[in-house]
Formats: sequence, structure tokens, C-alpha cells
Amino acid sequence: MSGTSEGPAPAADLVRPAVTERHIETSPRTSAGLHPGTSVSPGPPPGTSVPSEPAPGTAVSTRAPSDTTVSAHAFPDAASPRTFQAAFATAPLAMAVVDREGLVVTANESLGDLLGSDAEALTGRIASDLVDLASDTRTWHAYREVLRGRQARLRCTRRLKHPDGHSLWVQVTVAPLPAQERAVLISVADISARRELQARLRHLQMHDAVTRLPNRTLFFERLTAALEAEAYEEGGTGRIGLCYLDLDGFKAVNDTLGHRIGDRLLAAVAERLTRCADEAGYARAATPLVARLGGDEFALLVEDSTGTEQLADLAESVLRSLQAPFDLSGQRLSVSASIGVVERRAAGTSATGLMQAADTTLYWAKADGKGRWTLFDPERNAHRMTRQALSSTLRAAVERGEFTLEYQPLVGMEDGGVRGVEALVRWNHPQFGMLTPNRFIGLAEEDGSIVQLGRWVLATACHQARRWQLDHPDAVPIFVSVNVAVRQVWDSDLVADVAEILKETGLPPHLLQLELTESAVMGSAGRPLQALQALSDMGVRIAIDDFGTGYSNLAYLSRLPVSVLKLDGAFVRGFQYENRDGTDTHPNPADEVIVEALIQLAHRLGLTVTAECVETASQASRLRGIGCDTGQGWLYSRPVAADRISALLEAAATCGQV
Ligand code: C2E
Ligand code: MG
Ligand code: MG
Repeated sequence: MSGTSEGPAPAADLVRPAVTERHIETSPRTSAGLHPGTSVSPGPPPGTSVPSEPAPGTAVSTRAPSDTTVSAHAFPDAASPRTFQAAFATAPLAMAVVDREGLVVTANESLGDLLGSDAEALTGRIASDLVDLASDTRTWHAYREVLRGRQARLRCTRRLKHPDGHSLWVQVTVAPLPAQERAVLISVADISARRELQARLRHLQMHDAVTRLPNRTLFFERLTAALEAEAYEEGGTGRIGLCYLDLDGFKAVNDTLGHRIGDRLLAAVAERLTRCADEAGYARAATPLVARLGGDEFALLVEDSTGTEQLADLAESVLRSLQAPFDLSGQRLSVSASIGVVERRAAGTSATGLMQAADTTLYWAKADGKGRWTLFDPERNAHRMTRQALSSTLRAAVERGEFTLEYQPLVGMEDGGVRGVEALVRWNHPQFGMLTPNRFIGLAEEDGSIVQLGRWVLATACHQARRWQLDHPDAVPIFVSVNVAVRQVWDSDLVADVAEILKETGLPPHLLQLELTESAVMGSAGRPLQALQALSDMGVRIAIDDFGTGYSNLAYLSRLPVSVLKLDGAFVRGFQYENRDGTDTHPNPADEVIVEALIQLAHRLGLTVTAECVETASQASRLRGIGCDTGQGWLYSRPVAADRISALLEAAATCGQV
């Protein structure tokens, strides 16, 4: 035997030619004394305590006079080697005594039965061949160690083929025979029934009872295995794909038609998905795995995928397959589904990572209108991640003072003089750099941190406006226009905050303008209306921001304490485009007529009008022509830092413009 051999060595190399070394006697198949039907009871092993009366049916009962313990000597016959040989031969557990070279010295009837052979015919056979101990390296090594007396025991499970064709699962134990240095005992227990039961239990645990599809647990098991295989094994594409599907409006089916119909629908959907997977698998080596992940969620896993196109085709065919209505015992039902599709390299992908991406993509498919599939988009995801990252650090950022204000001039259309500035907040984020408000104001509104942030903006802007007023006593003071979110009106005492800040900074109320959106003031009653009224009474001006994007109900607005309309940039953008040479092309007179009518109406209602997004001289001149009061936009200035406004005021004062 070559001790250095690595792989499963041929079993024969254990067998030395000198078979004569076998010294354990082969026992006769049946020996006198114990064999089935013998009236000697399976008496207690030596040293075992037995009842003082012999058990019924005990033919031999020699009792030591003053001793209740029956020793082996009391049963000379039963304790004889022949008796034990007989016990071995007829024992229900399949066994073989094997010599140190691995050859069967003797096998019992049960082993013969198990292997479909005569027990005697097994004598001299290579034991490892009989019970398949050489087919894997680890078992083979352990077996050799037991034979050499270097390891106490080996236990393993094997699948054997019976000569009649059926296969069986056995548990093989190899252990040295005590006091028999040159032999080991191999016992073989048939565990087929247990295995089958286990397999059936596993199937139940791993499959969904309603659709009979693999369930979430099995799906994740397969996904994890597939990721490992794709990432580390050569020969495949090294890619993996997933269609994550959710039925649209399934809850309504359950709620209105009941769970029985709901379950039937799920089972019918499962059938169609399976058919799609089968069809997709015809042309390829593997069929996608279809699983029910819970509720109305299903997944189709494509191992070894070839690219997004393959997954897109699959998603497309799934949607098509669901188009035909379902006939559920007389009930005709139509359903659609949304599918999130992810396809990527397996290396570096985790099961949870893939599922998260699929979940996000499914959410997009739903948000984009349902009844469709959507492909994972890393950029869109990055945006979502940033949203999450921003939202989790917003509150702390307010405290850490990561925000700054820029100011954009509001210019008189007639003379081009700066009347005021709009304060626009920016977040100087430590990781993402300077962020514009569109990235975080919505989030701040959602989590309520807008209240704290809004108060900071208000205080900072008022401080700044007062500073300009004090620093430029010769100029006409400019007002500051501060954006106010709806939540600030509802969730904080805006009136008290404004009053306090004005008092603290010494800014006259008429130099403060608050910008609220139409939707924030529409339908105002109770608290917001009282707040607007109180602010207006204080002398603070209220402007309606982005006018024209919402209800555009001027008549209603005129009844609120509002004094300024800020026309949304879309109006001005719709005016016309200007060529490089200053001539206009694509004039859109309709827009201009509407804006003109709006301005006239606003004026009649006592409101002044500011146009946003004035980018060209032509837009400015037309706005001037139709009576717009003030303008704001890149034509005049981009939003700039406070000191740039100071410089502007300085320059204007020296020219005597402001
Ligand atoms: P808004 O109040 O309508 O502010 C005007 C926005 O238009 C600003 O964008 C400004 O930079 C931009 N803009 C100005 N002139 C032009 C132009 O000629 N062309 C174009 N295309 N855009 C121009 P910004 O600074 O990104 O602010 C966006 C929005 O964020 C603001 O819209 C406002 O609704 C909100 N916001 C800004 N600061 C605050 C704040 O402190 N509190 C609250 N609640 N919202 C704020
Ligand atoms: Mg604004
Ligand atoms: Mg605006």
C-alpha cells in the first residue's frame, strides 16, 4: 500500500497476497445454540442485573444461590464463542468482520441480503468495494487509518446500488474489534426509509404549498450556490440574472374575491411562469428556477446568463404570458405584473446585494406605471443611495453648520436696479460637495428637519439684510426674500420665529419677504391663514413662488394677504428663443398673451409681479413691455455669495443707481 497516495487508491492495494494472515475464523452460517427459534432467550449481557425470577420462556436458568446477578459463567453455552458467532450471523444489523488488509473475513446474512448476495460469497471480497469506501478521498483516508489502528472509528453515509436495480442509502460504521488487533467490524445500517422521509420533509420545507414552487429558503440556497459556482468555476459565463416579479393589485383580488380565489390565481400564475421558464430553457442548458418568494412575489433565476438581453426577453415573455385572463373555476380574472430585472457578473455579487438591487428595480417598475419590466440602473440607484445618505445626515448637518446661503438679485424691470435678493440655501456636504436645494429640501420636509433648517435660513438672511442696510446707508435698502416650506407654517410657530428674528436683527419688517408656494397657501384656513395674516400685519411681505405650476387661482389668492406673484420660470422659458445674433425664432405669442393677461389681472388685484428665470435680454424687454415689475435670472446675476451683493450695492451707490 502506498502511504503517500493522494487520491482514492485502488482498494486492492490494501490486500496483501498473503491471505493466510487472516486469522479470524469464518463462522458457519448457523451454528448450534442460538439461532432464530431457539428457546434460549436473548439473555442479559454479562454483569447485567436481572429480575430474581427467570423470565418466562427462559429454558436455562441457573441461579447463583445467594446472588441475584447472573454472570456469563451461569450460561456457559450462551457465552461460548460459537454463540456469539451465531448472534453475529443472524443479527438484523448487516455486519462484516474485515481484516487489516481490507478483505472480508466473514459477513452476516443481513449484509448478504442488503447487498443482494450470499453472505458466504462475500468472504474474501474487498470490503471498501462492497460499501463504496474508496470513492472519495476523505473517507478512503479515514478508512485506512481505522484499518491501521490509527483512528478509532469511521462513520459515513453511502448510496449503494442493489443488483436488482434499486438504490439504497446506508450508514457505514467501521470500528476496531476489541481484543482483535487484526480485524475491524464494518456495520451497515439501511437508512433508506429515514433518508426518504428526510427528503420528503425537506421538500415540504423548501416548497410552497399553494403553488408547489420552490420557496424563499430554497431560492436563496440555490442563489447562493449559483453565485459561488459562477464566481469560482470556469466554463460558465460568470454572470447571473434575476427577474423579480410582483403582481399588480393582488391585494384587491384577495380582499374582494377571498383567499381561495387568491390562492388559485397564484397557482395559475406559477404555472404560466414555469411554462415561460421551460420555454426559455429549451434552447439552453439550464432552465431558469422559478420560485415564490412570498405573497404575490415570484422570482426567476437565470444561472450562467449571457447578458441583459436574455433577461429582458424572459421578462417580456413573462408579461406576455400573463396577458390572457385567468379562468378560475368560472371567475375570469386579469392581472398584470411588474418586474425588476437585474443582470450582472457573479463575482463580487452577494445574494443580498442582488436581491436589494432587484427590489429597488421592482419598485421603479411599479412607480413608473406598473405592468412593465424595468432594468436595474446603477445611476438611478446611486441617486437613491445618495438620497438615503443625505436623509440620514441632514439633522446633524444643520447642527454642524454645513449650510450656506447664496443670494440672487431681484431687479426692477424699468431701471435694472436691485430691489431685493432671494436667499437660496446650499449644503456644503463633506462627501458630496456643494448640493443645490432640490437635492435635500424635499428630504428635509419629509423628516421635519426643514423646521430647524428654515429657522437658520431666516435668521441668517435677516442678519445679512440688516448688515447690508447698515453697511450701505446711502443706498436704498434692499429686501431679502426667504423661501418657506409648508411644514414650517404647520409645524413651527413661524410668526413667533419671524417676530423674534426681526427684533434680534433689527431688520425692518418691510425688508423681509416670505416666499410660499401656491399649494402651501391654497385652501388656507385656520392656522396657516392666521399665520399669513399675522405676518402681513407685522409688515412682512408674502410672495407666491412658482406661480402657474399649481392652481393659478388669482381670484382666490387676492383674498389672502399676498402681495407678490413670482411667475414660474416655465412661462418665461416658453416666450421665445433668441439666436446668437439677437434675432428671435420660434416666437410663441400664446404664452406672451397669457402672461400679459396674468400681469394685468394681478395688478388689478393689487399684486406686483416678479418673473423668474429671465435669461435673455429679449425676454427681459418683452416682460418689460407687458408690464412685469421685477425680474430674477441669469441675465442679471446667478445666485452669489453675500459679499458679491455687497460689492454690487457698493457699485450701485457710487453710480447713484440704487
Ligand atoms: P425658487 O424659489 O423658485 O428659486 C429659484 C431657483 O431658480 C433657484 O434654484 C435659482 O438658482 C434658479 N434660477 C434663478 N435664475 C435662473 C435662471 O435664469 N435660469 C434657470 N434655469 N434657473 C434660475 P435653486 O437655488 O436650485 O433653488 C431651487 C429651489 O429650492 C427654490 O426654487 C426653492 O423652492 C427651494 N429653496 C431654495 N432655498 C430654500 C430655502 O432656504 N428654504 C426652502 N424651503 N426652500 C428653498
Ligand atoms: Mg423662491
Ligand atoms: Mg421660484
